[in-house]
Amino acid sequence: MNEKIYDVVIIGGGIGGLMAAYRLHKNAPELKIAITERGNTLEKRVCFAGKDKTCAHCKICNITSGFAGAGAFSDGKFNLGTAYGGTLGEALGEDVANKFINEVDKILTEYCTSGEPVVYKSNDALRLKCLQNNLRLLDMNVKHLGTDNNYLTMQNLINAIAESGTELYHFYDCEKVEKIDEIYHLTYENNEVLKAKNIIIATGRGGANFVSRFCKDFGVKVRSNHVDIGVRVEMKDIIWREFSSAIYEPKILYKTKTFEDRCRMFCFNQGGLVSAESNRGIITANGHSFAQADKKTENCNFAILSSIRFTEPFDQPTEYAENISRLANMIGNGNVLVQRFGDLIRGRRTNDHRLSQNTVTPTLKATAGDISLVLPHRILTNIIETIYALDKVAPGTANDDTLLYGCESKYYSIRPQFNENFELTPGAYIIGDGSGICRGLSQSGAMGIYVADCITK
Ligand SMILES: Cc1cc2nc3c(=O)[nH]c(=O)nc-3n(C[C@H](O)[C@H](O)[C@H](O)COP(=O)(O)OP(=O)(O)OC[C@H]3O[C@@H](n4cnc5c(N)ncnc54)[C@H](O)[C@@H]3O)c2cc1C
Repeated sequence: MNEKIYDVVIIGGGIGGLMAAYRLHKNAPELKIAITERGNTLEKRVCFAGKDKTCAHCKICNITSGFAGAGAFSDGKFNLGTAYGGTLGEALGEDVANKFINEVDKILTEYCTSGEPVVYKSNDALRLKCLQNNLRLLDMNVKHLGTDNNYLTMQNLINAIAESGTELYHFYDCEKVEKIDEIYHLTYENNEVLKAKNIIIATGRGGANFVSRFCKDFGVKVRSNHVDIGVRVEMKDIIWREFSSAIYEPKILYKTKTFEDRCRMFCFNQGGLVSAESNRGIITANGHSFAQADKKTENCNFAILSSIRFTEPFDQPTEYAENISRLANMIGNGNVLVQRFGDLIRGRRTNDHRLSQNTVTPTLKATAGDISLVLPHRILTNIIETIYALDKVAPGTANDDTLLYGCESKYYSIRPQFNENFELTPGAYIIGDGSGICRGLSQSGAMGIYVADCITK
């Protein structure tokens, strides 16, 4: 057993945890700091998907878990503002949130050693075009590192943190936290126990159960958050090129006509690939793209998700979303489903034959099927209406051959109650996606820096 008492143990080695560790050391080099991560080291994170990219159902998903977190193999789009990617602007005030986002950017610039990333600026003409069609384009400057540069930047940052003396533990899955005589005792799945005066919970979306348990054990109040459920959409890249060449990643909101629900198009990948990710054995769709021209496909993909906020008495939005994805996996023989938009509208399943004749070639080997057997009527109606609305600004979106992969969901199931320092109980802080505040790299990193400053001030 490790008998050392750390000043700070960070649980989770994603961008939030890494930025916190970096800043803690900068502010107070004498601090004893450790980062404990459920997954592997970054260089050993390898996806064991089969040759058709079918998920290998690893106990710990190398795509979402491990040092550098869920963003390790992402497209590396860093939002240089608060228009989307979380509600840090509301929590800290726009000026303070932007200040910390700029600091994340500065640190990344220091460690981004493989070329100057492209910065996409906001665009009035496209914003107007959307407004004229009842769509709201969320617009801000975005720095795009690309998957490869993002990976290298993260590796450089991790190396710098390790060299500064912060201890990095991989395959340390924190199961339980207790507080004995003002010291936190963290028990890991491998039976190790680490002790710390302060802890930072930076467990991301995948750590929802851990956060729930912590809140229950320490009597921290939580409130149910919303859940976003929908599909990953894939089509020819040229359809969205007017947008992607100008602003790189169109993020668009639509209020649906039938239910007046909020639907959002986001996580756009130009020339990208649809991917499958495994969370607690449930396979869902996602997407990414590479910066290099030779790795681009002729497709683009993005998510269309319908937001649902449950009211009393129901308070298990994550489980609800997981059950929908589980149903898709059941019908899809353990895999994500794929359906042509034309088949969905005609009320018939997509089969391998129709898929083989499709003009859009799927970039993920998914099971051809019928998404309408999985998604509830309300969500499906919202998605179809949104596709037709988007077709007005990017004609071709509602083509018969557009592919829908189901399901994709984003959940922020609980929002724990914390003080202005994101402190749950004295000495225990929460940052990043797991806090229910963030949904992106910049804001998660910014929260890490903010909390590090709170601990060392
Ligand atoms: C495919 C994909 C692409 C994305 N692309 C972008 C993008 O381009 N731009 C953007 O802004 N955002 C993107 N995102 C979202 C972004 O990755 C997240 O918002 C961000 O990673 C959140 O950072 P975090 O540190 O809060 O959590 P995470 O990055 O999720 O890190 C949390 C870490 O904690 C570990 N962990 C969880 N529970 C425990 C435990 N009990 N004990 C120990 N360790 C634990 C996990 O293994 C994980 O490594 C993408 C996400 C995905 C999945």
